[in-house]
This record gives sequence, C-alpha cells and structure tokens, in this order.
Amino acid sequence: MPVPYGILFTNDEPDTPEDLVLVLLTVAFLLVFGLLAATLLVGLTVSSLVTLLTAPGQLARLVRDRQLRRNHALEHATINVIEERYGPSQLAGLARPDGFLIFGPISPSLALEAAEEGLRRMQAGEHRLAIHPRCGTTLVASQLVLAITFLATLLVLRQLSLLPFLLGLAAALLLGPRLSPLLQRWITTDARVEGMRIEGLRPHLVPLRLPWSSVMVPVPGALLVRTSWGDEQPSSRSVTILTRDARRVEAGRYWIDE
Ligand SMILES: [Zn+2]
Repeated sequence: MPVPYGILFTNDEPDTPEDLVLVLLTVAFLLVFGLLAATLLVGLTVSSLVTLLTAPGQLARLVRDRQLRRNHALEHATINVIEERYGPSQLAGLARPDGFLIFGPISPSLALEAAEEGLRRMQAGEHRLAIHPRCGTTLVASQLVLAITFLATLLVLRQLSLLPFLLGLAAALLLGPRLSPLLQRWITTDARVEGMRIEGLRPHLVPLRLPWSSVMVPVPGALLVRTSWGDEQPSSRSVTILTRDARRVEAGRYWIDE
C-alpha cells in the first residue's frame, strides 16, 4: 500500500467549459494563422517566380514599341503639366499605340491644352516631364525588387519563414520608388518626341454588346488624346460637304476604329 508524503492544497478550480473553449479557440486561431502564413509564403514564392518570368517580357515589349513609349512620355507630361498648375490630382493615364487615355475629373479643353504644352516643352528639351512618380512602372519595379529579394533570401536560408517576406517587403518599399524613374527614363518612356503631333481629343468608346447588336458607348470620365507622327499618314480623314451652289465646307475630322 502506497504511503502518502503529504497533502497538497491548491486553489485551482477544476477546468471549466469556458477554459476549454478558450484553449480550443487559441488552437484554432494558431492553426488558421499558420495556414494563412504558409499560404501567403507559398503564394508569394509562386508569384515572385511569375514576376521574374513575366516582368522582363512586359518591359521588353515596351522597349520594342517606340511609339507606345513616346505616347507614355506624353501621357506623363500632360499629367505633370496639370499638377504643376493645380497640385496633386487623382488623374490616371494609359498609353496606347495611337495616343493615350486620361481618366479622372478633367475638362476636355484642359486635357488638350496640357497635352499640347507637355509636347511643346518636351520637344524643347524638358525631358524630365516624361517621368511621373505614380506610374505603373513603380509597381512593376517594386514587385521585381520584392521577388528578387524574397527568392534570394529563401535560397540562402533554405526554409520558408517570415524573414524573406519581411526583407523583400522592406527592399521593395525602399528601392521600388527609386528604381522607377530610372526604368521610366531608359525603358518605359521615350521623351524624344520630335515629329509627334496631337491629332485631337475624343471620348473613349468601348463596344457594348447587346443580344441583337453592338454599340459603341463612351466611358464616363475617360478621354482619348490621339497622336500621330510626321512620317505617318494621318489617321483621321476630313469631311467636306459640297453645298448646292458647289461651295466646299470643311465639316471636321473623323476616325475609323480598328
Ligand atoms: Zn506611366
């Protein structure tokens, strides 16, 4: 028969259901958090690899398309001219081979005036107008820095942890905005816009498909600034109306969309 050494008094209450619920909740939280962190890290590894594979291709396409880079430069110059006059704006832009789109609260006359001033000033040598801090290039640059730092740290540590993610994030925040102006200057824009002309302004039309037909509708708050080049046939045709007494009246220009 065992001999007792003594009696131990404790004040602990026996486990109540509330304690059990708390423990279960903590375990569930840790599990969910762990799963989320693992998903984030695995997802980041995959997206970093995708960025490394696709970003150079995106940039290379811009390098090959000089017209797109010059339109991108004029898009930045236009927004820079407007922001010089009225301070930071909510405007956004998108370069296309035939010009650029400008989105946001802006009157057509101001958009056209700013585009013409931006073009004139870049042609006079003010190439810095082609660089804009809010450009999409900054996002691509930050993603690229994040991907390279994340994967490099992962290769050195050889295990998935939060450190490569935090290092990548810090590097992207620090280097992305500094790398962007260089990428814009050498790769995504071209400020040598001699021979470029502004053809005019029009609403940005997109096709709206209805069951029985398709109509072109303007996108609210979006304008298209059309550009062309000295060595290029004008993209627009002019309309001349012949009156009954054989007078010719210039009616304006129109464009045919591809
Ligand atoms: Zn841009």
